[in-house]
This record gives sequence, structure tokens and C-alpha cells, in this order.
Amino acid sequence: MKSTIKASTYRAIYRLLDRVSPIDCDCGTLCGAACCTNGKDDDMGIYLLPGEEKIHVGEDDWLIWTKDRAQDYDFPESWSGTVYFVKCKTPPHCPREKRPIQCRTYPLAPHICEDGELLMVYNDIDTPYRCPLIDEEIELNDDFVRATQTVWAHLVRDPKIYDLVREDSIRREEAVAELYEMLEG
Ligand code: SF4
Ligand code: SF4
Repeated sequence: MKSTIKASTYRAIYRLLDRVSPIDCDCGTLCGAACCTNGKDDDMGIYLLPGEEKIHVGEDDWLIWTKDRAQDYDFPESWSGTVYFVKCKTPPHCPREKRPIQCRTYPLAPHICEDGELLMVYNDIDTPYRCPLIDEEIELNDDFVRATQTVWAHLVRDPKIYDLVREDSIRREEAVAELYEMLEG
């Protein structure tokens, strides 16, 4: 799928995120690297962001690659063409400098408010595992939060990534509103 984000920009983003970590120790030791092993759910994997494949394809045999059509899945309407779904062959072991963006910014997720403000929130995607950083609200390193915010601020300049993040944000806002209604009603 076409993307306005150049391969060199993705490389710079990877380099920036290589320098930070959610907490000082390896958080995989808290949970047996649950988000890599996905609770042993074999269907779990990661969709690359539009254009992210430019810095992976052809060289990464540690990943199992699947090409899907964006229109066959729950992606924004603006998405068309091929999306790349990857699964790690030997999780949690991978070349650290090659981890996709979704692995690097978890457990945070970008949220775009109605007024356009970009915030980092805990990732609330349904998963077959629990992340202790989220469940126990363990304080995340400031430099990790800052780098994650900087990276997503850059990524959402791409219209397709913006649409993805905004649609996820609307879904999140609707779920919270429903919860309030239920509790107050
Ligand atoms: S991000 Fe959460 S689920 Fe993933 S390894 Fe760290 S603590 Fe475990
Ligand atoms: S790329 Fe690495 S960090 Fe990401 S899920 Fe696979 S093993 Fe885990």
C-alpha cells in the first residue's frame, strides 16, 4: 500500500525507538513475554503500518509473511491494496533492531481526540494475554513515553495512518461513553 512515509523515515523511527524501553528492566520477564507469544494463540500476529514493509521485505526470514487485501479486513475505507501481516517464527526471540513499530510502542497506543489532539493511552486492543504494565499501571519511563508520542505524531501525518488512529479513537470514545451510560443509567 502506498504511504507518504519514506523508508529512511521508518529507519529513523526504528533508531529512535531502539534507544528507549517502557521500563528499566526487560518487561518480558514480568509475564513470560506474553505479547510476543500471544498467549499461545497461533493466529495472532502483527499488521505492519502502510509503507513499513519497505524496510523488511525480502530480508526478514525470521518472520512469516502473509499478504492481505486491506478491503477484506476492518481497515479504514481509505486503505486499499496490500497489507502485510507478519508472525514471528521464534518468539520472543527476534532481531531487536527489526521489531515492527507495533511491538516498539506497546503498551501505549495513539489516540486522536475530536479536537485533533494526539495523546498516548494504554493499548486497549482485545488480546488473549494480560500485560502487567497495563494491569498494574506500572509507571513507564518518561523517555519511552516521549519517544512514542514523537513517533506517532510523525506517523499520523500520513493520511492512511491518521484514518486508522482516528477510527480506533472513535471506537474507544464510543466504548467509554457506553460504559458511562451503563453506570449512570
Ligand atoms: S509489554 Fe506487557 S505483555 Fe509485553 S512483554 Fe512487556 S509486560 Fe509483557
Ligand atoms: S518482533 Fe520480536 S518483539 Fe515483536 S512480537 Fe515478534 S518476538 Fe516479540
